Amino acid sequence: MKSLFDRWFFLGIAAVFVITAGNSALAFHNTRLLYETAGQVTHTHKVLEALAELLSTAKDAETGQRGFVITGNLGYLEPYHVAEGTITSWIRQIDTLTRDNPRLQSELPELRRVMANKLAELRETVALRQNEGFAAAERMVLTGRGMASMDSLRSEVHRMVAEEEQQLKERTDRATRSRNFAISALVMAGLVQLATLAAMILLLRRKIRNRERAAAQLNEQKEWFRTTLFSIGDAVITTDTTGKITTLNTVAEQLTGWTSGEASGHSLADVFQIVHETSRLPVANPALRALRDGGIVGLANHTVLVARDGTERPIDDSAAPIRDANGRILGAVLVFRDISARRDAELRLREADQRKDEFLAVLAHELRNPLAPLRHALEILHLAHDDPVAVEQVGGIMERQLQHMVRLIDDLLDVSRIAGNRLELRREPVDISAVVHSALETCGPLLSQSQHSLKVTLPPHPLHVDADRGRLAQAFANLLNNAIKYTEEGGRIWLTVERDGGEVVIIVRDSGMGIPAKMLERIFEMFVQVDGSLERAQGGLGIGLQLVKRIVEMHGGSVVAESPGPGKGSQFTVRLPVVLTPAATTKPIVGPRGGDRPRRILVADDNPDAGDTLAMMLRMMGHDVCVTRDGVEALEEGGRFHPDIALLDIGMPKLNGFETARRIRLTEWGRDIVLVALTGWGQEDDRRRSQEAGFDHHMVKPVELATLEGVLNQPPRTPVGVP
Ligand code: ADP
Repeated sequence: MKSLFDRWFFLGIAAVFVITAGNSALAFHNTRLLYETAGQVTHTHKVLEALAELLSTAKDAETGQRGFVITGNLGYLEPYHVAEGTITSWIRQIDTLTRDNPRLQSELPELRRVMANKLAELRETVALRQNEGFAAAERMVLTGRGMASMDSLRSEVHRMVAEEEQQLKERTDRATRSRNFAISALVMAGLVQLATLAAMILLLRRKIRNRERAAAQLNEQKEWFRTTLFSIGDAVITTDTTGKITTLNTVAEQLTGWTSGEASGHSLADVFQIVHETSRLPVANPALRALRDGGIVGLANHTVLVARDGTERPIDDSAAPIRDANGRILGAVLVFRDISARRDAELRLREADQRKDEFLAVLAHELRNPLAPLRHALEILHLAHDDPVAVEQVGGIMERQLQHMVRLIDDLLDVSRIAGNRLELRREPVDISAVVHSALETCGPLLSQSQHSLKVTLPPHPLHVDADRGRLAQAFANLLNNAIKYTEEGGRIWLTVERDGGEVVIIVRDSGMGIPAKMLERIFEMFVQVDGSLERAQGGLGIGLQLVKRIVEMHGGSVVAESPGPGKGSQFTVRLPVVLTPAATTKPIVGPRGGDRPRRILVADDNPDAGDTLAMMLRMMGHDVCVTRDGVEALEEGGRFHPDIALLDIGMPKLNGFETARRIRLTEWGRDIVLVALTGWGQEDDRRRSQEAGFDHHMVKPVELATLEGVLNQPPRTPVGVP
């Protein structure tokens, strides 16, 4: 379809053509008219000349006649004789010349007549002079006939001259009008032509400007497209319809090892070499398929790109045909990316998932392990409950197994705190030796079972660190525990504490199974164990070292593992900053003891076994106990029983522990009693909620007897008002 511009432009050219042709025709016509007019003027001059000659000849003849009449000299008759001969030819000539003028033609007979008259008068007068002498001729002259005939001739000639001149004037006027018209027409046509040309030039200029603008836009778009291609994070290759490369963006250059300039014109297969990850067979090129099938093509999974230098990378990509506005295929575009990082992440995820599965298996195993000795111990208690030695022995076993389970669950809780970044420290300046002692106490039972020799070297003077005593002791206990677990029976363990500049260095070394070099860093990760098989599991969940690392780092310190190799022992070095000006006192953990005296204790627990065994234990300790099954019952019984202390479970039907505590605090009898929350929930948030509900203590089940005794021996609560 022609554009508007093209239509107007061709109309303009056509108009210029038509005007030019019209002008030329007009000019031709005008020139011819001028030429004709010029011819007619010449012709008129000839006619006038002939008429003048005729008159002049007649006059000459008359003059000659007069001369002869007066003198009688025949010589004077010469012009008269000439005139007689030429006058006829002049009249014939005038006749011929005036054929184009009917009005003059109609005058010719009159001209002939007056001329004939004149000649007759001349002839008669000459004959009189010759024959009758001067006087006769004179009389004739004096009649005035000669003058009259001459006047007639003159006036006839003048009429004809006037007529011819009139015709000339008419013709000249016509020619002038025609010329003026032609000039006006030419001027008009010229102006129209000029206007048309100016309009065309304007149109042309606008067209050129539009073209330039369109070209600039096209260039801009090209540049934009090129920049986009070159700035996107994916690799992009474009080809022509035959699969020959036209461009490579920077990422494609990096991944293939070809520059765009080098690759341009090469077939795609030369530059983009892809093989299957495992079979190593060439993979069908998606861009060539896109060209062939005309649709978008995704790359098969597990495809590896072989770069120019042989480097291999797993890639992921797709190709599509490039089409113009009419849907015609102009080439193909191939987009691909290096998925090594994604593959690694997937691998890590799979590993983490596998580790989690292993962890769950280990966890089940570890939680189940203590159950066997506990069950056996229970059976023994049934069978030999009156044998104090057996009871003492199984009591020890049960306590150790229970302790082990409690520690496992505590570790699990800590892991959850670490994951949620909720591990909190209550820091104060503490002597590092005291912390080490605390850890040694924790590991005492396991150590005494293992028959290892332990050498502890402590600094001669107190060295203080700003630490959470319990957490730091937990970290050292974990290291000691591992040293004990991962050393064959009868091995050697060294625990050394020394100062190194501004730091205190705690080293736990053993002569045990050692750690492979490649695992030295990884063992600090969650759930990582050197040998994860259950057969080799040494009673752990693979989270102890992660706890050690987090706790030490939260104290501003570091921990590293070293080992000369498997079977050659391991060494863990902890470094912590020393505090130079420790605070003089540390806070007492429990309040003043109120003395071992019987107490009135209200127990509320919806688990009958838990509530009843607790009550049995308390009664055996000599206290007066009232057991209830929920919060409502606890409130009712409390009013009758008037307890000194209430031990409340939190998750109870009807009224939960928090609400029960709140209501107890509102009663007369419960305002000042010691309220203890006994629960399976030990997170910081649970402790805070207990405090808000009015509890004095928050204890996580199972509670150690010693801890419970500490609370029972507290004096009654100092009234401070209901929280
Ligand atoms: P757990 O002991 O519960 O498996 P840890 O996080 O405490 O978990 O330790 C992670 C792993 O590091 C252990 O499974 C063990 O393979 C290795 N490891 C830790 N301490 C020692 C040690 N003293 N000697 C040898 N291997 C150790």
